[in-house]
Amino acid sequence: MLLSVVIPVLNEAQVIPLLLERLRDTLHEVAWEVIFVDDGSTDATPSVLGREALRDERVKVIRFSRNFGHQAAVTAGLDFANGDAVVVMDADLQDPPELLPRMLNLFERGYDIVSPQRNSREGETRFKRWTAKLFYRVLSRMADQPMTPDVGDFRLFSRRAVLAIRSLREQHRYMRGMVAWLGLKEAMLPFDRKARAAGQTNYPLLKMMRFAWIGVTSFSAFPLRISIAAGCILSAAGFLYFLRVTYLALWTKALVPGWASVVALQCVFSGMILLALGAIGDYVARNYEEAKERPLYVVTEARNVSVAEKSLPRAVILADLAPPLGPFVMDDTERAVAIPAAAPSYQPLAGVRA
Ligand code: UDP
Ligand code: MG
Repeated sequence: MLLSVVIPVLNEAQVIPLLLERLRDTLHEVAWEVIFVDDGSTDATPSVLGREALRDERVKVIRFSRNFGHQAAVTAGLDFANGDAVVVMDADLQDPPELLPRMLNLFERGYDIVSPQRNSREGETRFKRWTAKLFYRVLSRMADQPMTPDVGDFRLFSRRAVLAIRSLREQHRYMRGMVAWLGLKEAMLPFDRKARAAGQTNYPLLKMMRFAWIGVTSFSAFPLRISIAAGCILSAAGFLYFLRVTYLALWTKALVPGWASVVALQCVFSGMILLALGAIGDYVARNYEEAKERPLYVVTEARNVSVAEKSLPRAVILADLAPPLGPFVMDDTERAVAIPAAAPSYQPLAGVRA
C-alpha cells in the first residue's frame, strides 16, 4: 500500500523541513510519497524543496509557473499522486501529520473519504471562527448537496475517489463541494486544529470572501433566485403603498408627501437591482471563463516525478518528467495532452473524457 501526501505550498520555506520531519516520524510503518506543489513561491521554498527532493526521492516536487491558487495546487497534486490512498494537507502544520495513521485506519475499513473535522481552532481570531461558522451554516442551506461543516481541504481520498475527483475539471474549483457532489462513503474524524507553525496565512479576509463566494456560486444558483423573492416582496409593498396614496389623493384632503418616499424607494430598488445584476454578472463571467476551457495550471519544473502513463486534461506540463512524457498533441477537444508512453495504469471513469 502506498500513501501519497499532497501538500500545496506558497512561501512556506520555514515550515517544510519541520513538516517533513514530522511526516517521517509518523509514517514509518507505511510506504509513502509526498507531493509538494509549489504554487509560485517567491521565497526560499523552491531551493528548500529542491534540496529535500535530492536527499529523498520520496519527496516529489511540482512547480507552477506562477500562483494559480490553492485549489489548483491541490488539483495538480491529486493529478500526480500514485498512492492507493491520497491525503491532502496544508504545509503549515495546522493539519497534524499525527492524524494520518488514524485516517489510514478508517480508509482500510472501507471509507472512500476520511474527513478530519475541526473541533476547535487555535490561533484564529474570534472573527474568523465566527465567519467560518456562519459560512458553513449558510452554505449548507443553499448548496444542492449538503457539505460537511468544519471540514477544510485536509482529507484522505481512496484511489477511486481521486480518479473521480480528477474527472471534475472545472475552472472555478471548490474541492469541498466536489467531494459532497461525489457522494462517496465518508468518515469523520474530530480533531483540534492548531495555530500555524510559522509564517503567515495566505488567505487574508478578501481572498477568503472570494473563496466563500466561489463555494456558494459553484454549487448553488440560490443567489440568482434571491432577487425573485426580494422582487416579489418589494413589489407587493409598492403596490400596497400605491393603493394607500391613491386613496389619500382621491378621497381625503390630505396632501401626499412625495419626494422623501420616492427617494427612499428609489434607493432600495436601485440597490437591489444592482446587487442582482452583479450576481448575474458574476455567474455569466464565470460561464465565459469556463467556456474558454483554459488549462487549470502550468507546470514548469518537476523533481522525482514520473507520470508517463497519464494524460491530464486541462493541464500544461512544460517540465521534463522522468521517464519523458513524449510529445504533446491536441486531442479532439483541442486540449494539450501528452501522449502516454505506456498503457494507462487506470481506466478513466465511464463517460468521462480523459
Ligand atoms: N497556499 C497555496 N496557494 C495559495 C494560498 C495558499 O498553495 O494561493 C497553500 C499554503 O502554502 C498552505 C495552504 O495552501 O499550505 C493553506 O494556506 P494557509 O495556511 O495560508 O491558509 P489558512 O490555513 O490560513 O486558511
Ligand atoms: Mg493554514
